[in-house]
Amino acid sequence: MTTYNFCAGPAMLPVEVMQQAQEELINWHGRGCSIMEMSHRGKDFIKVAAQAEQDLRDLLQVPANYKVLFMHGGGRGQFSAVPLNLLKAGQSADYIVSGAWSKAAAEEAHKFGAIAVQGITQKTEEGLRSLKAAADWHLDPKSAFVHFCPNETVDGLEFTDLPATDVPLVADLSSTILSRPIDVNRYGVIYAGAQKNIGPSGLTLVLVREDLLPAAGATIPAILDYRLAAENDSMFNTPPTYAWYLAGLVFQWLKRQGGVEAMGKLNQLKAQTLYNYVDQSDFYRNDVDTRYRSWMNVPFLLADERLNDKFVADAEAHGLLALKGHRMVGGMRASLYNAMPLEGVQTLVTFMREFERVHG
Ligand code: PMP
Repeated sequence: MTTYNFCAGPAMLPVEVMQQAQEELINWHGRGCSIMEMSHRGKDFIKVAAQAEQDLRDLLQVPANYKVLFMHGGGRGQFSAVPLNLLKAGQSADYIVSGAWSKAAAEEAHKFGAIAVQGITQKTEEGLRSLKAAADWHLDPKSAFVHFCPNETVDGLEFTDLPATDVPLVADLSSTILSRPIDVNRYGVIYAGAQKNIGPSGLTLVLVREDLLPAAGATIPAILDYRLAAENDSMFNTPPTYAWYLAGLVFQWLKRQGGVEAMGKLNQLKAQTLYNYVDQSDFYRNDVDTRYRSWMNVPFLLADERLNDKFVADAEAHGLLALKGHRMVGGMRASLYNAMPLEGVQTLVTFMREFERVHG
C-alpha cells in the first residue's frame, strides 16, 4: 500500500530524495563514511553547502545583495532573532497577527523591544474566517520593520498581497517557502524552518538584505546574530550538516521538477482538487474565505464531529497519515507541501468520498 503523509511538519520529503539519501547514507560518494560524519570545514561538505546555497539562489532568484543563512533554532529561533537583529533602541516594529504563528512571533518579540501588534483576522458576513487586505493595515512609516506570516499553518489562512510601504518587510515563510514564485526584492528578511518544504527539522533558512545586517559587535546572542552567520558562511559554529545536505538534495529535486513556477501550478491544482471536493459536499466543509484559503494547509471539518476519530483511524488504515487537525482548530488538516504528489490528494479525495458514502 502506498502511504501519503499529510503531516504539517516535520512533513514528508520527496521519495526520490529519501532514496538518494539512503543510497549515500553510509558511504557518501565513495569516501568511506557518511556526509553526517564529515567535518563542516572539510572540502567535501563545503562543496555540498555551497551547492545548496547556489541552488536555492537559483530557485528563488535571490538577488546578489541578499545573504542566505543556514541557521539553527527553527521558526521560533527567528521569532527572537528578528527583533534582536533588526530592532534598534528607540525604534518600534509593526507585528501583523493573522493566526497562531504570527501571534506567537509577536509575543516573543515583545520581550525585546517596542512593538505595535495589529490583528487582521475577521469574519465575513457568512461567518467565514477571513483577513484584512494588506492595503488596509495601519503601518507606522517610522517602524524598523513590519513582521507577518503569509501562510498560517494552523489556521489554514494564506495571503499573497504585500503592503505598499518603504519599511522593510519581514516574513515567516516556514510553511510556504518554495511552494510558488515570490519576488525576494520585496522583502527585507525571509525566514523558514526547514521541516515543511525544505528538509528535516534542525535547519532554518534566512534570507536577509545586506543593509539590514546588524552592526558589528551588537549585543545579540552569537548563535542568532545575522552578521556573524553571514561573515562565517553560516559556520560560526557547527551547522546542522545532515539537514543542510538533505535540503540541498531537495533543492536539486525541485529544479528537476521545473522549479517554483512548476511547483506553484501543481500546488494550486492539488489544493483546488481538495477544496472543490469539500465545497460540493454537505458532509465536509472548510470555513475559510475562498480568497484566503491556504494552498499548503487545508483544514476541513466533518458535519458530524463524532466521526472525527473514526475518520482519522480509517484514513490511516488506508495509508493516509496525520490528518488530525490542530487542537486549536479541530477537525482535520491536510498539509500539501511540495513533496505531496497530486496522486496523494486524489487518493485522499477518493477515501473521503467513500467515507461519506458509508457514513453520510
Ligand atoms: N512559523 C510557522 C508558520 C510555523 O508553521 C511553525 C511551525 N509549525 C513555526 C513558525 C515554528 O517553527 P519551529 O517549530 O521550527 O520553531
